Amino acid sequence: MAELKPRVEALAAGRRAPGLAVILAGNDPGSEVYVRNKVKACADLGIHSETLTPPESVTTSELLAEVDRLNQRPEIDGILVQLPLPRQVDSKRVLLAVAPEKDVDGFHPFNVGCLVANLPAPRACTPAGIIELLKRYDIPIAGKRAVVVGRSDIVGKPTALLLLHAHATVTICHSKTPDLPAVCREAEILVAAIGRAAMITAEYIHPGTTVIDVGMNRVTSRDQAEAAFRGNQEKMAAFTRRGSLLVGDVNPMDMAACAGAYTPVPGGVGPLTIAMLMRNTVESAERRLQLC
Ligand code: NAP
Repeated sequence: MAELKPRVEALAAGRRAPGLAVILAGNDPGSEVYVRNKVKACADLGIHSETLTPPESVTTSELLAEVDRLNQRPEIDGILVQLPLPRQVDSKRVLLAVAPEKDVDGFHPFNVGCLVANLPAPRACTPAGIIELLKRYDIPIAGKRAVVVGRSDIVGKPTALLLLHAHATVTICHSKTPDLPAVCREAEILVAAIGRAAMITAEYIHPGTTVIDVGMNRVTSRDQAEAAFRGNQEKMAAFTRRGSLLVGDVNPMDMAACAGAYTPVPGGVGPLTIAMLMRNTVESAERRLQLC
């Protein structure tokens, strides 16, 4: 974020600050928190942001018209459609409507194609954040065995491709992978993008492995909280106060005992995801204003 700030200032002093538009449709409480954090990051950096909040009853064609208006506006460099969209909306059509050069989430098939071909284009923010994290902590990727658990379009697949482009030997696992612990134990870098609280335990880890925990699971049962944070009095006191805890896909107590390095939840991959969104927005503005 500190590296981006002078770039935003240079843009603002020259032509105009970068502009990000966020579409937050309906009232998903998780999405509201994510969008609030993204808007705050924009404000911290001096990026202009606006949040459009169509109601839960919004239709696909209304959202397509909104995206089209944003595509036409010259001062908007990035368009982010916060997922999930309300059930009646055709999410794929809405994401496809975002102009690829304003697709700061990197979800448009054109940008996914660029990712596969290793051509420059906005990269999906969470996978880009994972690579940035490994680089900033001087964790070598080239020649390493990387295992990615999860094959979603937004995390698992793009993460596997970025690791491959960085010359790791990559295995992608999913819910049909037999003997998942044995496959994971082969990893020198393990990425967990599953959506199951504290599923990755010591049994999945070769001692010394670097573990990236993408999961963000809100647990509301004391048993589940204890399974993840047994013996951690601070965390259990927080659970008692709030009635819930944010838990990753990885068991943090087990990782502390046997991983070489691991990312915490919260405070690991999440902030990097937002930083990469900011970077994509700044780069889009620089490109569109022909400054690079
Ligand atoms: P997703 O679309 O639900 O994909 C989950 C993947 O995990 C699927 O490929 C699924 O396999 C696999 N899986 C589920 N259960 C499994 C099991 N028991 N064993 C092996 N694989 C299993 O989820 P996502 O969107 O990728 O997100 C994953 C997690 O990351 C969620 O907790 C989400 O909240 C979090 N997330 C965090 C950030 C961040 O900024 N920190 C950003 C995005 C997502 P199948 O394909 O076979 O079903």
